Amino acid sequence: MKQLLLLFLTVLIFGCNGNAQDEKNKEYPLSKTEAEWKAELSPQEFQILRKGGTEPPFSSPLNDIDEPGTFVCAACENPLYRTKNKFDSGTGWPSFDRPINEENVDYRPDRINGVKATEVACANCGGHLGHVFNDGPKETTGRRHCINGIAMKFIPDTK
Ligand SMILES: [Zn+2]
Repeated sequence: MKQLLLLFLTVLIFGCNGNAQDEKNKEYPLSKTEAEWKAELSPQEFQILRKGGTEPPFSSPLNDIDEPGTFVCAACENPLYRTKNKFDSGTGWPSFDRPINEENVDYRPDRINGVKATEVACANCGGHLGHVFNDGPKETTGRRHCINGIAMKFIPDTK
């Protein structure tokens, strides 16, 4: 019985690792090597988009943008969010209650300080954008897309 339990646990552990690996090696429409991304992106962009880093809160100029426009992926210009879905979360990171289109972002299981979380990535290049939480505005989606400003570029509608 004890051996059976051990076997079961082994399968469970290896099974989980296998899934995590698959998720990490997932193919995206735009695929580049680490060296290519490094050459193309600024060191800060590379750290966040390709290494899953986080910018310091209240550091991004995109926090203050309230004019109509589109936030696109800094790596591949895939449209991600619209200003009309942006809200002031008080966290210091650009926050949105929904993406421009659910197909434009990808959700991946992640952990923050050991706690289960959901990572948001660009669905085109797989670049790390931020995380999504369930403490957004209740009157709309209830979701909070907490996104690094460095991972995005803003394109005003008037341009
Ligand atoms: Zn992208």
